[in-house]
Amino acid sequence: LDEGITCIGCGSLFQTTDPDQAGYIKASKLHDYLAGLTSPDDPIDLLCERCFKLRHYNQIQPVALESSHFQKILSAIADKKALVLYLIDLFDVSGSMINGISRFIGNNPIVIVGNKADVLPKSVKKHKLADWLQREAGKQGIQAVRTIVLSADKGDAGETLLNEIDDYLDRYPEIYVVGVTNVGKSTLINQIIKALSGKGSVITTSRFPGTTLDRIVIPLTEKTAIIDTPGIIHASQMTHVVSPKDYKYLLPNKEIKARTFQLQSGQTIFFGSLGWMDFLNRQNISITAYFENNLMLHRGKTEKSSDFFRLQAGKTLLPITESAMDWISQEIKVLPGQDVVISGLGWVTFRNSTTIRLHLPKGVAFSVRQAEI
Ligand code: GDP
Repeated sequence: LDEGITCIGCGSLFQTTDPDQAGYIKASKLHDYLAGLTSPDDPIDLLCERCFKLRHYNQIQPVALESSHFQKILSAIADKKALVLYLIDLFDVSGSMINGISRFIGNNPIVIVGNKADVLPKSVKKHKLADWLQREAGKQGIQAVRTIVLSADKGDAGETLLNEIDDYLDRYPEIYVVGVTNVGKSTLINQIIKALSGKGSVITTSRFPGTTLDRIVIPLTEKTAIIDTPGIIHASQMTHVVSPKDYKYLLPNKEIKARTFQLQSGQTIFFGSLGWMDFLNRQNISITAYFENNLMLHRGKTEKSSDFFRLQAGKTLLPITESAMDWISQEIKVLPGQDVVISGLGWVTFRNSTTIRLHLPKGVAFSVRQAEI
């Protein structure tokens, strides 16, 4: 295998020895390919077992990606003349942020792409969202030349984005697409390729995190290329404590409905069995919750909440965390116009100042930010 043939789906080097590792392919299949028994004009057929299963049966076999490996790929960008497209999932902005991204990419220009705009309520204005995202990224020390909001999987590579790429391609012949797993990198790249060259879909996309394992270079012209990088997996996201079959409660694929609640003091809202929020306010308040529509939001009395949780976890309260675990409680003071975000799950917007107590599985991150919507 010294030719270094890679899987068209994930970019891993093929190997025929370890089915549990990236790039595994049956020796006979590879042999047929190398012997020209299958058409080399049709490289889409040469997928590793993992990508093959993903494409044909929607199955996932998780493969761990070393974070140092990821950092090595990213830090190589600093030495190149590259335009960096930094993808953010608009439904999970904090979970999409990559620590130290500015350091990795050196002086190269960065365009922030807020993807999956279609899952937010239709009433939300895209330019407002872009302004908000640019400000939030600025707080993380990221100075983007531009911030664009779009929906890659709705066939929308974004006129503005394509123009931006056009403007830079002369001076920056490589386009690096970076982002955490599942933000839609492969989907966006497919759209860009389609728009720039008229080619069809060549990169594996899936609903499961962790599909792209290594750098994939896709030439656009003789001098220019677009590069897909592996997505780092954020360990503090809710997806890590939920079984993949329950991702349908976490990852929206269509417009989420804003759910508004009027709350009295002493009330609690459960987010399925994945966490709950006690409201310690004295007056009535109103909140709006943005979660996957399937996720059960249940309001009850705080004083009865532990009994209710014990009886209803996995029944009324769906989904449930994968295994019994420790819970962490945190008291948070919230101001009007702020969101309390549960990483990888969703957020609650507050119109009044109040204090809450948030209960989450240990290891799942939360944050408070200026309201996204
Ligand atoms: P990657 O891991 O960053 O390469 O992400 P993929 O391109 O594989 O996409 C991850 C998941 O997000 C897939 O299920 C895509 O269909 C979905 N996805 C990508 N773009 C969009 C979008 O604009 N809107 C919605 N609703 N889903 C998207």
